[in-house]
Amino acid sequence: DATALITADSSTSTDMRAETETTNTRASVTYSALNETVDQVAARLATLGVGHGSHVGLLMSNRPEAVWLIHATMRLGAVVVPLSTEQTLSELAPRVERADLDLLVCERETEPIAVDCSVPVSSVDDGNVSLMDSPAADESAADPEWKPTDPLVMLYTSGTTGQPKLVVLTVRNVFTSAVASADRLGVLPTDRWCSPLALHHMGGIAPVYRAVIDGTGLILAPTDPKPLLNALSQHEATGVSIVPVLLERLLSVGTLPDSLRVVLLGGAPASNELIEHCGDRGVPLHPTYGMTEAASQIATARPSEATANPGTVGRPLFMTTVTIIDDDGYPLPPNERGEIVVSGPTIMKQYYRDSKATGDAFCAHGFRTGDIGYLDEDDRLWVDGRAGDRIVTGGKTVDPSEVANVLCDHPEIADAAVVGLPDAEWGECVGALLEQTDQDSSVDAATIESYCRARLASHKLPRVVTFGAIPRTESGTIDREVVRARLDVART
Ligand code: ATP
Ligand code: MG
Repeated sequence: DATALITADSSTSTDMRAETETTNTRASVTYSALNETVDQVAARLATLGVGHGSHVGLLMSNRPEAVWLIHATMRLGAVVVPLSTEQTLSELAPRVERADLDLLVCERETEPIAVDCSVPVSSVDDGNVSLMDSPAADESAADPEWKPTDPLVMLYTSGTTGQPKLVVLTVRNVFTSAVASADRLGVLPTDRWCSPLALHHMGGIAPVYRAVIDGTGLILAPTDPKPLLNALSQHEATGVSIVPVLLERLLSVGTLPDSLRVVLLGGAPASNELIEHCGDRGVPLHPTYGMTEAASQIATARPSEATANPGTVGRPLFMTTVTIIDDDGYPLPPNERGEIVVSGPTIMKQYYRDSKATGDAFCAHGFRTGDIGYLDEDDRLWVDGRAGDRIVTGGKTVDPSEVANVLCDHPEIADAAVVGLPDAEWGECVGALLEQTDQDSSVDAATIESYCRARLASHKLPRVVTFGAIPRTESGTIDREVVRARLDVART
């Protein structure tokens, strides 16, 4: 009976008491035990009125109960809607409302905010009658009739380009994604996959479904670099899903264990420096490009491919087709840049109750990602960034990632965010927020200007430069609005 779920200890090694407690109370769970628990949780959910087609919100941290609930809703034919626990009531309430929840399941920490959301609430930590203490499972409750096109999970996008959109993923989307991912990564039932990413993100919930579909073990781990590194070693993880910022932090505190066979890196572009660094250290890096609307991965590179072609996200996955289109919607040949369009069985059904946004998102070749990139002659995908991030200055287009890469090559620059700023003369001009490698660094705007003049055409030169930490969203993408605001301040 294979291991289904392991909860890694989130305490630090200085807290011995908590560590022992965790070890005692949270042993690993086998697949048959998981199956029984899921039946019980499904039975309890059924007594709360959850059935086929119900919408169940999930407002809790990465804990075993969340995994049980994800599987229990699936067993009932209900739709699970994982929500971020980091939101304020004014952010959360409209999202709860838009998702038409029939029930919102919370935990002790999120209960105060959940009860203000005007939907029925149930806590997994309720001391009296917990959602988890259940009568014997009612077999009839857990016997849904699935159609492949039925919705299974609804997730909000990260909201990088505007208000988050509510993506409806079907049973087929999630299952085909798991199969295609396992095919590319060579996943076996003996694998133990670790997921430190939040469950309300595609990258965080995908491993939960993948584990049961591929029959692997799942390690729920904390996001703090040291405990995460401990969890990876202690539980001999063979795979981990991670975003670039977190991987950089992990590598700065220690070495990844030898048991790791797949480091699936996505959610945001990885710097060439990080890819090189991983190549040098033998980290089995699999850079991936994906999104909520595609039920996670679209393309994924294998380690040898990633090191030989730094910056590529590899070939599209099995069953997924990538087309690059020009501004008029016509397909482009290899090596020509345009919008990345994706089709295949993993692509979402729709944005929930938003036929306008859904209609706008699809074209003759599939789902319009809003990202710019190209396919090379070997069918490898290269992602430049978002279409909306392209800077148009004096009628010429500037790719912000090209400028950022040049800036990051400067020995005293650790990270760079490049954005377009409104400009009376040129329409837009290039602005750069730079993070120094060392706080005492003497590099200034004048140094950067002469450095860039030697390397970039004049329309690509950053006209406004300032220094500071690069603000990022949870998934690690640059928060461009904040960058623009900082550059606006620097300009005046
Ligand atoms: P919203 O759609 O609300 O603006 P979002 O697009 O950030 O938010 P997600 O679905 O979480 O929401 O993120 C998908 C996006 O992340 C992709 O469209 C792409 O821009 C970016 N991304 C993912 N992986 C990569 C990668 N390897 N390289 C570059 N960008 C990536
Ligand atoms: Mg998006």
